[in-house]
Amino acid sequence: MAKAVNAVVKLTELINWNEYYHTVLATQRVPVYRDNLVSVTPTFNEEINNKISLWQGDITKLEVDAVVTAANNGLLGGGGVDGAIHKAAGPELLEECKTLNGCETGDAKITQGYKLPAKHVIHTVGPKGEKPDLLKAAYENCLKLCVENNLKTVAFPCISTGVYGYPQEEAAIVAIKTIRSFLEENPHLIDMIVFTVFLDNDKLFYEKYLQFFFPPK
Ligand code: ADP
Repeated sequence: MAKAVNAVVKLTELINWNEYYHTVLATQRVPVYRDNLVSVTPTFNEEINNKISLWQGDITKLEVDAVVTAANNGLLGGGGVDGAIHKAAGPELLEECKTLNGCETGDAKITQGYKLPAKHVIHTVGPKGEKPDLLKAAYENCLKLCVENNLKTVAFPCISTGVYGYPQEEAAIVAIKTIRSFLEENPHLIDMIVFTVFLDNDKLFYEKYLQFFFPPK
């Protein structure tokens, strides 16, 4: 079936974090976060900063190699971002999900993207409530699937922060920290990671903590 071309957002339309900082945040710079979250303040790394993007919008519109969905253990669809992804991808997505035997919390599984502009969907199950190790594992297992499947561009939603009730600010810290560590350890495996925020307050949290964990020059 033909894809809905008019609604697609291409990666070339997004700005990377370096550009975001110097344009969007230039006139409304928020204070850089400093405390004992990490013992050492991360250093400026232009290459890494060019590989991330902060974008507010509907993740189902993004033309990337993979979009991540915040699913439940059954992988049989749900509300929130998962409902939006299933709706946009069409019923074939659910049919493929039924063959996967569900997914453990903190783990991830991959399918085709069907009618989405994204080639693949990575289904992960975040924790219910604040469980940093499981949230970290969810992000890491999604990235592992990207590497195993040679996927170079991926968009994440704010996993667990909706129905699953993980506090948004704490979840943003885990998400950003985990991606920073991954990119430090694997500088050449992924070309672009899009932090996709839907809500205005998530955008503010990401602006704040990206400045800390991906310091700009
Ligand atoms: P969980 O069950 O893991 O908490 P939810 O789908 O309830 O997952 O919420 C996760 C995040 O996804 C929330 O920040 C929510 O605002 C966001 N979200 C909902 N719909 C979309 C969408 N179409 N695109 C991107 N993010 C979305």
